[in-house]
Amino acid sequence: MVKICCIGAGYVGGPTMAMIALKCHDIEVVVVDISKPRIAAWNSDELPIYEPGLDEVVKERRGKNLFFSTDVQKHVAEADIIFVSVNTPTKTRGLGAGKAADLTYWESAARMIADVSKTDKIVVEKSTVPVKTAEAIEKILTKNGHGIEFQILSNPEFLAEGTAVEDLLKPDRVLIGGRETPKGQAAIQALAAVYAHWVPKENIITTNLWSAELSKLAANAFLAQRISSINAMSALCEATGANVSEVAYAIGKDSRIGPKFLQSSVGFGGSCFQKDILNLVYICECNGLPEVAAYWKQVVDINDYQKSRFVNRVVGSMFNTISGKKIAILGFAFKKDTGDTRETPAIDVTNGLLRDRALVSVYDPQVTEEQMRRDLSQEKFAWDHPAHIQPASPASAQKVGYVMDPYQATKDAHGVCILTEWDEFKKMDWQKVYDNMVKPAFVFDGRNIINPEELRKIGFIVYSIGKPLDP
Ligand code: NAD
Repeated sequence: MVKICCIGAGYVGGPTMAMIALKCHDIEVVVVDISKPRIAAWNSDELPIYEPGLDEVVKERRGKNLFFSTDVQKHVAEADIIFVSVNTPTKTRGLGAGKAADLTYWESAARMIADVSKTDKIVVEKSTVPVKTAEAIEKILTKNGHGIEFQILSNPEFLAEGTAVEDLLKPDRVLIGGRETPKGQAAIQALAAVYAHWVPKENIITTNLWSAELSKLAANAFLAQRISSINAMSALCEATGANVSEVAYAIGKDSRIGPKFLQSSVGFGGSCFQKDILNLVYICECNGLPEVAAYWKQVVDINDYQKSRFVNRVVGSMFNTISGKKIAILGFAFKKDTGDTRETPAIDVTNGLLRDRALVSVYDPQVTEEQMRRDLSQEKFAWDHPAHIQPASPASAQKVGYVMDPYQATKDAHGVCILTEWDEFKKMDWQKVYDNMVKPAFVFDGRNIINPEELRKIGFIVYSIGKPLDP
């Protein structure tokens, strides 16, 4: 029986390995992590991440050919194929700080693999890494003096949070890069054989190592660029009276452009887009390509601009002061169907509102209070689960509270900001919301999910991104 071990039981390692276990009953899959609570959660009824359909997949295979363990070294030593799916965040200090990928976790995993391995292994880069990382990993692995061989493959993951199970079931493509040597090609074939259990052969693409590594960064850069492009257009729409939804529909009908990823919003978030583009920018700079670096940097700059533009619109609409006014935030996750708040635009928007001395009340169906406390600084939490908020005096403002119910969040608020496109916000009783708000009552739809005309009929003053403003 082929044995797979995956180092890193996160948003990528957990779901991807669960899918391999589901589709390949002849393969034993062990997901290992240094985090005891994370592994305990994978072994419990409360999985550590929220992802539609994932519970069923894990429960079906766990204990059969899918295992979660903290015994990292044992399972790495026993595996034939080792996926490395550890986090690769942006470096926060030293050379390349703020742009370059921090490969600390990767290097430590590679050194451990080198130390404990006694048989030949295929080591798969599942994490998103800078192009040429495999070269560094090879150097670390070959320090192993046990006379064994490692083949490094790049097999970047293209799943999107919120649709991970669906994306893994029917991937647009599986990309595998390896060395052009006979052993490198044999390793590619061994990994391709795993995916061939359920992915059609024509969707399994094989390339050289550097193409595969760079393709992941390029894919995220192109996706984020589309969002920044439509968001840049949304600002021009607001200035001219055009409607960004109409513009997106019109240009998306062009088969060369296509309709997907043209939804204007308060900005993109998530753990990947920003970090991967900044990483790309850094790689371009290191390769003496400052013009190319500047081109991709604009994608992140426009995203930052979009978030601050949204906050300015909130403050500007509410008579240039939100001091002491309660503002409800509906949705804190970076997108719907996930509880992930990494790099969510809601962090910047909340901080922006707090800087202008608002009282902010946040509701999200999947984000916990602990996550919010981690994402926003602790001292900002002054009032918890408020039953009834009176417009506060400016002195006591500049605070944030977490509530369990959208109607509680919006009660006595002056304004509502929709920051995540959760379906439940579309179905809310907006008349009830309006009745319980301070008048004039404002809605700022950062995801364009509510029909502004219907809200205006109720009496709201409405701002929808990229759409004509209130007459
Ligand atoms: P994550 O932070 O959710 O998970 C990483 C896990 O690795 C953590 O649980 C951590 O404890 C563990 N880990 C770190 N060092 C370890 C070590 N030495 N030994 C054992 N475990 C270790 O991260 P994620 O979101 O799963 O992302 C992982 C990688 O996949 C990143 O490079 C990311 O860019 C990439 N990626 C993420 C997504 C996504 O949607 N989240 C999609 C595609 C690619």
